[in-house]
Amino acid sequence: MLGSSTRRNVAILGSTGSIGCSTLEVLEGLGESFRVWAISAHQQVDVFAKQIAKFKPEHAVLTGAVENRAVSEVASTSGTTVRFGSEHLTRIAAAPEVDIVVAAIVGSAGLESALETVRQGKTLALANKEALVVAGPIMTELAKTSGATLMPIDSEHSAIFQALQSGRSVSEVKRVILTASGGSLRAWPREKLPLATVDDALAHPTWAMGRKITIDSATMMNKALEVIEAKWLFGLDPSKISVVIHPQSIIHSMVEFVDGSVIAQLSPPDMRLPIQYALTFPERHAGPARKFDWSESFSFDWAPVDFERYPALSLGFEVASAGGTSGSVLNGANEAAVDLFLNHKIAFTEIATLAKKVLDYHDFDPSPTLKQLMDLDQWARKETNRIAGC
Ligand code: NDP
Repeated sequence: MLGSSTRRNVAILGSTGSIGCSTLEVLEGLGESFRVWAISAHQQVDVFAKQIAKFKPEHAVLTGAVENRAVSEVASTSGTTVRFGSEHLTRIAAAPEVDIVVAAIVGSAGLESALETVRQGKTLALANKEALVVAGPIMTELAKTSGATLMPIDSEHSAIFQALQSGRSVSEVKRVILTASGGSLRAWPREKLPLATVDDALAHPTWAMGRKITIDSATMMNKALEVIEAKWLFGLDPSKISVVIHPQSIIHSMVEFVDGSVIAQLSPPDMRLPIQYALTFPERHAGPARKFDWSESFSFDWAPVDFERYPALSLGFEVASAGGTSGSVLNGANEAAVDLFLNHKIAFTEIATLAKKVLDYHDFDPSPTLKQLMDLDQWARKETNRIAGC
């Protein structure tokens, strides 16, 4: 049992995705200390109906339909109140019964509910890095006034968060080193990258994840978003953030302190570990995540990043330095470009090219409002489609 005697109610927004399903598995293992109070899904109705039947949450929200009979029927036999439409996500985040919101929706569709969680001063277990990329300054300022806690789920940021526990403050940090697998096309000759198909790009060597993040991993836009995420989560100047290629995905990231010590967090690649840590911090518990077999031999490699091969990564550092409207534009353009690639409308290498074009020519504002950021997100998507001729 966890130290606290009170049971914590968890809302998992995006419960049918890769992170959402892993979160449910972790919660099953943690037993009575947590209750799955609410879940949400977008389109995977069958998986959602099974989750409702199994976990019997108080509330369920299906965002991708105005009505669904199968979901309504299973909800009724499970004692679950079901709602349809994305406007119900913020209501779940604001419900007084909810203690922790796991932000596991993909893309900026998860922004409003993540912001509402922070506004309410709750714990936000954040997988949805896009929310922080779009609205980092607004979200972190809001957390300061509301007292909300932002717990990273991203394995790299969980690793940094864990390593930081061995220092006293960010002023003792010389740099953080984010590790990157290099994605599915790491071994491909550069000149062949424009020919990469959707299946090639989705074949990630070390992680099983949703489609969008797997493509982001292949372009290294994922690492670009993580650089921006690290800046906002830990209050780091971008000059203190580095990236290295580490193909085994075992060292999840490192912190180098001013005295020269480097503290790393290692574990087999399995998201159930950082998810569980985000839920149980500061405690640690036995859990379902894979463990090392210390009777086996293994070795680690790391290498510098070739920025010419991964032009998306430079955009991450650019945006982390510029701030303002640039995060929203980069993210919107990337989400639209990834969609185009997944629908076979553009070549793999055009994803980063399009994102750069839209970023370069947007009307930069250093201190935008939330409304401006959301409008720019839509603008960036339209511009990406327009430039691509789609
Ligand atoms: P998936 O694509 O597997 O799941 C996405 C979830 O969001 C699903 O529940 C999906 O519902 C829901 N969803 C999709 N579109 C919308 C929408 N427009 N409105 C509301 N809900 C929507 O993604 P992942 O689980 O891989 O990733 C989720 C987030 O976590 C991303 O931000 C990703 O970057 C981050 N992350 C993921 C990691 C991983 O290992 N997967 C690692 C680190 C971070 P449905 O399936 O019902 O359509």
